Amino acid sequence: MITLKEALELSPQELDSFRDDLKAKIEANSELNAYIDVNVVAEGIPIAIKDNIQVKDWSVTSGSKILQGYIAPYNATVITKLLEAGLTPFGRTNMDEFAMGSTTESSFYGKTQNPHNPGRVPGGSSGGSAAAVGAGLAIAALGSDTGGSIRQPAAFCGIVGMKPTYGRVSRYGLGAYASSLDQIGPMTQNVEDAAILYDIISGHDPKDSTSVDMGSSKVSDKLDPERKLTIAVLPEYVKDASEDVRKAYDKAIEALKRAGHTIVEKSLMDAKYDISAYYITATAEATTNLARYDGIRYGNRKEGENLKDLFIETRSEGFGDEVKRRILLGNFVLSSGYYDAYYVKAQKVRHLIKEEYDKLFAEVDLILSPVAPRTAYEFGALEDPLEMYLSDIYTISVNLAGLPAISLPVDTASDGMPVGLQLIAKAFDEQTLFDGALSLETQLKS
Ligand code: GLN
Repeated sequence: MITLKEALELSPQELDSFRDDLKAKIEANSELNAYIDVNVVAEGIPIAIKDNIQVKDWSVTSGSKILQGYIAPYNATVITKLLEAGLTPFGRTNMDEFAMGSTTESSFYGKTQNPHNPGRVPGGSSGGSAAAVGAGLAIAALGSDTGGSIRQPAAFCGIVGMKPTYGRVSRYGLGAYASSLDQIGPMTQNVEDAAILYDIISGHDPKDSTSVDMGSSKVSDKLDPERKLTIAVLPEYVKDASEDVRKAYDKAIEALKRAGHTIVEKSLMDAKYDISAYYITATAEATTNLARYDGIRYGNRKEGENLKDLFIETRSEGFGDEVKRRILLGNFVLSSGYYDAYYVKAQKVRHLIKEEYDKLFAEVDLILSPVAPRTAYEFGALEDPLEMYLSDIYTISVNLAGLPAISLPVDTASDGMPVGLQLIAKAFDEQTLFDGALSLETQLKS
């Protein structure tokens, strides 16, 4: 598959024939189920879009039955920016319902296969985007990351996935899951493409009050893999990961040393607090955000005897099990009597996590961390919700602290599956993040 950088050089005629080939390839690989819907008639460089990002006049389902047939009335800001850069949305990628999950198995539109093994999940929640890029069925894709949903599927499918600093990319037109954690980001074949796509979609947007105005400097113009950085590694953290992941971790450390970076051993607060703080915060916000799908304002309606019945019927019929579980959890942690014990405490823990990172970043430029405890799961392996939540252990603290991070392929495991690791940078230091990632990628290839 051509890279995004190469695609930007193609003539309109070359792009036309590329799009025809791409369409044929997607049809020939339909069993992968990476896409919920494909429309390659449009002009421009075709980019795959997670199905929770609005493209005007196109359906947007967030992987849910409750939004089946819903047509987006306006473009998300990231889509407007893509179009301005000559990139065109051409396919809606499959995802866990409302981005809640780690396997893409909770989609109403069926499971997506991992391109490296049809018996394994592509990861989630942006599993369709990762599978599409990993299988050569997209040049690049957009995903969203609330607790790892870009980085983990990227790691499982052997591609690059980047979560920007909270506030860097507008959330306007993104189906909200947990608003204080959600970020849209690039999923690409290599680090340079991720930087190019990040430059295109990032920037201040008055339509998103949490978007930050920091000028418009482009990271891809200044990429410098020769910069020598100080990079923290976390031996304590990595201990609980599988042997394959630990092997990849050592391989990455060696590569970073060869590239001339300084490696220092550090530790972070026990990650068990991350899981609780994240699942309290995320479900509390999700409960609030999903209240709008009531069959009146949004979503498919199921009639009832009266208004209350209509709400109950609509939501019982439209939401899947995992979404219902999180609505229940979120209402519980926000309810009076429990609010202080759970929600308020989770915010305190969140603050501590951020402080821990701040302390570390006073001494280092980047942190090297696993993305997931192991390679892509077999279908059904994370059926127990608690097991699934625990599998997010390496990704969620980055969202709680609002930091940028990039997952990139490092190794092939003993089971033949890709192993990805992530680099994490301090808030708004995407330049250093991409420089370090490019250096690691280059060194691993040499
Ligand atoms: N697996 C995590 C969750 O289910 C993260 C999902 C995401 O980043 N959207 O909440």
